[in-house]
Amino acid sequence: MLYANIVGQQEAKGRLLKMVRESRVPHALLFSGKEGSGNLPAALAFAQHLYCKQPTSYGSCGSCISCNKVAKLIHPDLHFVFPIAKSKDVKSSNDLIKEFREAFLHQPYLSLNDWFSELNAENKQPIIPVEESNDILRKLSYTSYEGTYKIMLIWQPEKMNAEAANRLLKILEEPPEQTIFILVTTQPDQLLATILSRVQQIPFYSCTEKEITDALITNYKVNPEVARQTAMLANGNYGEALTLLTHNDESVSFLNNFQSFMRLALKFDCNKAIAWIDENAATGREKQKQFFQYGLEVFRDSLMYNFGNKDLVRLSGHEKLFLEKFAPFITQKNYEKLVEEFNNNYYYIERNANPKILFMDLILKTNELINLK
Ligand SMILES: [Zn+2]
Repeated sequence: MLYANIVGQQEAKGRLLKMVRESRVPHALLFSGKEGSGNLPAALAFAQHLYCKQPTSYGSCGSCISCNKVAKLIHPDLHFVFPIAKSKDVKSSNDLIKEFREAFLHQPYLSLNDWFSELNAENKQPIIPVEESNDILRKLSYTSYEGTYKIMLIWQPEKMNAEAANRLLKILEEPPEQTIFILVTTQPDQLLATILSRVQQIPFYSCTEKEITDALITNYKVNPEVARQTAMLANGNYGEALTLLTHNDESVSFLNNFQSFMRLALKFDCNKAIAWIDENAATGREKQKQFFQYGLEVFRDSLMYNFGNKDLVRLSGHEKLFLEKFAPFITQKNYEKLVEEFNNNYYYIERNANPKILFMDLILKTNELINLK
């Protein structure tokens, strides 16, 4: 993993480069940022930089033997700790390292949801149990194989239970020599204050729409219109943008689907509603989330349009033509309620609610709200 593979984050990358160049690497770092900000792949890029045998002014060379080992997540001095679904056979990260490698190599912008769906454990509680701290101590007691640093990369340390967190704190208070802890978190506020005080924080920000659009065009040769639409729906989360791209079925346009929904909501027709619901219930969670996300975007743009802020409207092309007709239905009376409904449904779908029930309920509520005079 190279710094160049991380979208945006110039400030964080600059700080990391400087640390290594000046040999002033703190013994514990916290890469904090929302999902899809790139803090996890950045931690790998940083480890690769630290181990690289021929670093350049841009970071690691990407081709030496150490770089190759880190890139495959098999460097013997680089250890990983991550949340697991505990079971009879799975007691700590060690038991799932092969699966973790596969998941990360497949998608370095891995989210906790992605990880747990890879494990087919979506309904289980992600946890870093106390057994893990014994493993950490054991790994730290070895001398380093390659004679440099040992790195302990802890992904989502906020998933540690209280006992594990307290043990980690003890280790951070008396850090073993030549060891660097990289904690990678999406929720720093859930970490013990005492742990936070022991680490140097490197903040990662949500990507901008332009950064995501440009990255999709450059890295995946996506056509600019699709790249822009995907970036808009991804909300600053590059991992989400990549997921959206893989689920992007050209034959089902977001706009067409949303239009059909709104026609039903304006003039309720039971048979048509059931047909729409059946079709959309079968598309799967990702597509359903995109529908809600798209609706939220249309509501926002409608409001901008109505208030005369047409330059703030992000939809374009066919979507803009639709907006001209649709915007008058969005008023100050129904805007907040519609946004709330769509947000809530996004949340419920993410938590495995029954889509048929949600969609029927949403059509009826939207019917009521959109016809408010
Ligand atoms: Zn190298």
